[in-house]
Amino acid sequence: MKKSKLLLLLIPLLGLTACIGEDSVDEDVLIGGINGGATIDLSSWIINDETTSKEIYSTSGSVLVDVQSAEVKSDGDANYVVVETGGIPKYDVTMTQAMVDALNGRPKAATDFISSITTAVVGQVVTFGDDIGYNSSNENCDATGGAGYWPPGPGCPTQQDKQAYFPAEPTGIESDEVCETGLGKIGLMVNGTSIYNWGDGMSEGDNLWYTLAPVAEQYDVDVCGGHAAQGDYHHHFYTSCLADLVGDDGNQHSPIYGYAADGYPLYGPYESENTLAVSGWQVRDYGADVSEGGCGTEGERSCVLVDPYDVSKGVAQVDSGPEIGADVTTLSGNTLAADDGYFYEDHYYAGLSVTGVQLDQHNGHDTNDGKGYHYHITLSAADDGKLSPAFPYTIGPNFKGELASNSISECDAALGDMPPMDGMPPMDGMPPMDGMPPMDGEMPPMPPRP
Ligand SMILES: [Zn+2]
Ligand SMILES: [Zn+2]
Repeated sequence: MKKSKLLLLLIPLLGLTACIGEDSVDEDVLIGGINGGATIDLSSWIINDETTSKEIYSTSGSVLVDVQSAEVKSDGDANYVVVETGGIPKYDVTMTQAMVDALNGRPKAATDFISSITTAVVGQVVTFGDDIGYNSSNENCDATGGAGYWPPGPGCPTQQDKQAYFPAEPTGIESDEVCETGLGKIGLMVNGTSIYNWGDGMSEGDNLWYTLAPVAEQYDVDVCGGHAAQGDYHHHFYTSCLADLVGDDGNQHSPIYGYAADGYPLYGPYESENTLAVSGWQVRDYGADVSEGGCGTEGERSCVLVDPYDVSKGVAQVDSGPEIGADVTTLSGNTLAADDGYFYEDHYYAGLSVTGVQLDQHNGHDTNDGKGYHYHITLSAADDGKLSPAFPYTIGPNFKGELASNSISECDAALGDMPPMDGMPPMDGMPPMDGMPPMDGEMPPMPPRP
């Protein structure tokens, strides 16, 4: 099977976009904490207590951007890094020709934009929430700001007032335990935005085939590759806007982009100069050969892997999903081809058999370089050098570390390391933050960024 063409479509999401940090990003504040004699580094968090969003408001006024505080606190017998944030980023994007072309090339541009095309022009600096012509005013954006910045459908981000506890000394999960990442927050980026996992909460075929947010929602994110669910702005995959804020130019191992709920840091996509960290997850071969993950008939999704961590265990027959390449309609009304790689179940962990792989099943590693265990945001490069998000994109599908009882996330107890068979919704019942079902599902389209 060929690699998904869909992933290639994501290319415009990445790349050249420049998000300018400007002076809004205060110097990283270094607050030294002591834990068992070791200094806890808080310098990655982007602390801000004065700059407010230009477009996002709350009932009490303007909303502070980035993170308001990050400090070490004890809770019980453990220390935690406690982060407080309103969850609104300070992103400024200088529009390039490629970005404008990508926006205007949206399949539904005629209705996505009030005037059929974006109002943004090359060279314009678009601040988070600025109106670029989207027909998004039917949401709550008018009251909180941001109308016209969001593709139609998605809810608009609102001030979240998140207080997140991260274990200061993360501990690996017991080897016989599995803690799946689920819907909702699974960590925070260093600017206070939420990290969500691979899923968008949607599936085809009776909860058998789960769609991947970076693919199915490719038209449902903003020019920084993010969007909101129940007001919670989040990223499912790499964002060049954050890369710019943390100064990641690919000339060395990426800096920290965020922290997972288990306390392990999430670094950017580079392992070393111009060298991407390589995911050990691969796309299945839906050929006829059952022993290689196929279902007996070329191009048919009528089986799932018995164990996505050991493809040699073969497959189990299930009700058929969309055939490879079949058209599927997303929540935002876009039609996409369900190429190989469209669904979670199209993937398996191949580990060392992947050329150049350094990452484990959790999308992390410890190379004894002083960083300790850490996750990576993963991208893959096409032959022409263009980058696209690579499954599992950030953390997961399972956490490496234990989640504490005060964590912003929780394990999906309903699932082990098996594919979601038997109609078990891997996503429901997930970390209902703020009491709302963090489904992404309701989001509509978004834009590509070059
Ligand atoms: Zn690394
Ligand atoms: Zn989402």
